Amino acid sequence: MIRLRRRVYLDNNATTSVASNVRKKIGAVLKNLYGNPSSAYRIAQDAAAVLEESRLSVAQAVRAAPEEIIFTGSASEANNQVLKSFLPDVGHGRTKIISSPLEHSSVMATLEYLGHHGVDVVFCPVDSDGRLNMEALEALADGQTALICCMLANNEIGVIQDVAKVVEIARRQGALVMTDCVQALGKIPVDVHSLGVDYATFSAHKIHGPKGVGALYVKQGSPLQPLIHGGQQEGKLRAGTEGLHNIAGFAEACRSIPDMLAKAGAVAELRDRFVREVAVLLPGIHVNSRAVQCLSNTASITFPGFENAELLAFLDYHGIGASAGSACNTQDNSPSHVLTAIGLRPEEARQTLRFSLSTYTSPADIRYAVSVLGDYLLRRNLPVTMVSPAQLDENMLFSGNLFVIDIRSGYDRRLLKGLPNSHQTAKAALKDSLRLIPGDKNVLVACQTGMDAPMAAYFLRSKGYRDVGFVMGGVLAWKLFQPELYRKFGDLNATRLEQGTGTP
Ligand code: PLP
Repeated sequence: MIRLRRRVYLDNNATTSVASNVRKKIGAVLKNLYGNPSSAYRIAQDAAAVLEESRLSVAQAVRAAPEEIIFTGSASEANNQVLKSFLPDVGHGRTKIISSPLEHSSVMATLEYLGHHGVDVVFCPVDSDGRLNMEALEALADGQTALICCMLANNEIGVIQDVAKVVEIARRQGALVMTDCVQALGKIPVDVHSLGVDYATFSAHKIHGPKGVGALYVKQGSPLQPLIHGGQQEGKLRAGTEGLHNIAGFAEACRSIPDMLAKAGAVAELRDRFVREVAVLLPGIHVNSRAVQCLSNTASITFPGFENAELLAFLDYHGIGASAGSACNTQDNSPSHVLTAIGLRPEEARQTLRFSLSTYTSPADIRYAVSVLGDYLLRRNLPVTMVSPAQLDENMLFSGNLFVIDIRSGYDRRLLKGLPNSHQTAKAALKDSLRLIPGDKNVLVACQTGMDAPMAAYFLRSKGYRDVGFVMGGVLAWKLFQPELYRKFGDLNATRLEQGTGTP
């Protein structure tokens, strides 16, 4: 329907593109090594050999011994496994876990779960750059502390923590330390032995490897319970036939880490240029990724007065992928816990975007992104309006001045009813239906979850429609926020746009 000018991917902390050597390796493993590594015959043993070779490569990338590496299905799983090993009934005697408040949701949610199961979870404060307050940590750690959990580098603001210092404090109290190294790997050198931690977690898809595979480093002698039971794999600590193609892809990506580290300086230069050029676009723009020790690729920027969802939609329309905080939280509109922990007010957090570069990001990508941001912030292109489901009450829906276009697929429509008086059309058919859309009304585009409508709304803007909006979160969010209206008016008078129901 819409031809994008170019594509610029600035969300590498969410995930990265898969490197060509990794794709090749995965293909070769899928083709040739289909044996089950747990079986005894030659075909299977070839697979087992690649499994161990991969373990060695991942271990070498983080300076661990191969027997200290367990492959998992994701870093989220690895984080869960470590933390759930500290449930009180597992029997370590100690019941307290101290954590930084900036952890990934796979840690935060698991800590919440542990809190409901007898663990005393305590959060150590951070400063406005996100650095852990070591004096506070020292005061919180005591003889009841089983574990201190602190990520090496943060996914939203890039702050790098002094994990070796955390280990020093933990050891004085006989506590263990877990660190999430997902964002650090490939961006800064990671050496689990010199950090001194007991547990470290990693994910392949953040280093141009495949999705769906993680690794857990467990220092020899540190306690760990299986999360998934039912097999002998991974030293009986992670049951399930190994996804060898993913594991081999992970190992292949790890072999490129020296190259990624060598390019980190160039990435930092591009990131710094991006931040410098964006910061002068408008007064009041605020940079949150400003710690002295910060990932070279990450820029978290607050744009006062601009809703991040609207800005993201504008960037998306122009082919730029960025994010509002962690990818794991994009479906709800809650302010980022990381940004609020470093002192941003919820409304400031909702005005913040994260841009994350990779070694594949080019200077031209950065120039383009700065220019598109400038268009939006300086109103060189009038934006579309983001309509929250809370605004979609009876008054607005039946105002008479609203023309609702429902671009959902037939399948989505069977799952959920649409807004009343909506004009249904396929996304791809919008271009041919323009003559049916009145130019003198407020045009509101709705899709199922809010992912498709912004693009269509910008398309209509580009075709000269002045007042165009989209429903944030789509009809799904409308149903959740307005269950009564949904029940009463869902699908009321909905018609096909192509049948000429619009005013030509
Ligand atoms: N930890 C951090 C800091 C992350 O950024 C992520 C991914 O967003 C994860 C853990 C989860 O990794 P995975 O996608 O492998 O579960």
